[in-house]
Order: sequence, then structure tokens, then C-alpha cells
Amino acid sequence: MVSAKDVHKSFGDVEVLKGISMDVMKGECVCIIGPSGSGKSTFIRCINALNDIQQGSITVEGQEVNDPKLDKLELRKKVGMVFQQYNLFPHKTALENIMMAPVLVLKQDKEEVEARARDLIRKVRLEGKEDSYPGELSGGQQQRVAIARSLAMHPDVMLFDEVTAALDPETVKEVLVTIRELAEEGMTCILVTHEMGFAREVANHIYFTDRGVIVEHGPPSTFFSEAKDPRTKEFLSQIL
Ligand code: ATP
Ligand code: MG
Repeated sequence: MVSAKDVHKSFGDVEVLKGISMDVMKGECVCIIGPSGSGKSTFIRCINALNDIQQGSITVEGQEVNDPKLDKLELRKKVGMVFQQYNLFPHKTALENIMMAPVLVLKQDKEEVEARARDLIRKVRLEGKEDSYPGELSGGQQQRVAIARSLAMHPDVMLFDEVTAALDPETVKEVLVTIRELAEEGMTCILVTHEMGFAREVANHIYFTDRGVIVEHGPPSTFFSEAKDPRTKEFLSQIL
């Protein structure tokens, strides 16, 4: 599980996270929503130690991620992350992109990795695209390769930061279906997203952040209908 307690993060003198606490149990899917600049990306980047924190704690499966002695490679094997920009290697095929880290970083057996990569291609519904280069794939297809590439490391937790924000509307759905299937299979997922339909249907819990704090949170059954804070209400009224 992922447990954040009173997380504070500053860039220079500017405090961007002002005491974020959140517990995500194994197998849960949590959505984080909130206005631009509220600290959503900053927070999830703290979970896999892309950002350090100044106060508080974050643990993944009991391990403190802000521990200076932490092996970041070990952490990033446990915590997969997918971004808005999928950053695939343009001169590698879909299959090669998925295989690279397990072969080059983890030094795993190439044949075994390839067999697994082919399974992952099927999982994200890209059969037939194994040998395509990123430039030959749609945005949604590239994003699914990026998801498969993360899954190839066998993470315990997946972080998604607005992974559909840059996609054409018609390809958003296929990426959300992939994430939904992962969540339904029990992958622990933390998503920053503006896809309220997805949050409503798939999330176990939704957090609304504003200016570095969690203003309000709850399960979708009550979050949307019983939002109390005026900031939450205003945000929801703009996007729903
Ligand atoms: P968006 O919805 O636009 O992606 P966000 O909620 O993800 O917004 P963050 O990217 O976490 O917001 O940014 C929160 C604040 O931290 C912003 O004011 C931003 O300018 C600032 N910030 C983020 N990264 C850095 C950095 N590397 N250096 C300095 N300030 C930063
Ligand atoms: Mg962001």
C-alpha cells in the first residue's frame, strides 16, 4: 500500500504541498482531481521519489521513499509511472520499447522478457503492432505501449499523470479501458485525471486538491453528490 502522511514539498521558498495525507490500500484505484497548479503532479512524483519532500513521510509497501539510503531503482521497480507525454524511444518498435528496461536495467533473460512483452501487448490490446514504431501508432496506441512498458517491470503500484490529456477524444476511451482492466485485476492505481466518468465508475476514492491541500475526499458514491466545500463544488460545476 501507499501511505502519505502530512507531506510538505517546496520548490525554493514556495511551498507547493502543504500537508497531504492519503492512504491507498493494495488493489485500490484512487483518482486525484483539482485545478491546474494545485500540486497533483508534484505529489505523485513524490511517490516514486522523482521529487524529494521536506516534511512528512511517504511509504510504499512500508518502505520510506524519502530515505536517503533508499535504492531508487528498487523503488521504481515497485512503482510504475506513466505521463501525459509517453516518451517512447522513437527508433525502437513497440515490442522493443517494452523489453528495454527488463533486459538492459534488470538484466533479465531476453527470451523470457520477449514472451512477457508479447503477453503485455495482448493485454493492452495491441496485437499486430509489435513491430510498429511509435511514429506509426496513434496517440492512444503509443500511450498503451507506455503502460505496457511500465507493467513489464512488474510494479506493485501504477501512477498515471493525466495520461489521456493529450489524446484525441476517440483514443481516450481505449486508454481508459486499459487502465480500468488493470484496476479490475487488482493493480493498485493512483491517477491524476480530469476524466470524471472514469473516476465515478472505477475509482474507489476521489481526492480533490487545491493550492497544495486536500480539500475534500470520498468514495464516488458521495463525492459527486455531497461535495461540501465551495472550491470542490465550483470545480465540479466547471467540468461536469
Ligand atoms: P496541472 O493540472 O496544470 O498539471 P498540477 O496540479 O499538476 O497542475 P503541479 O505541476 O504539481 O500542479 O505544480 C504545482 C505548483 O508547483 C505550480 O505552482 C508549479 O509552478 C510549481 N512547480 C512544479 N514543479 C516545479 C519545479 N520543478 N520548480 C519550481 N516550481 C515547480
Ligand atoms: Mg500536473
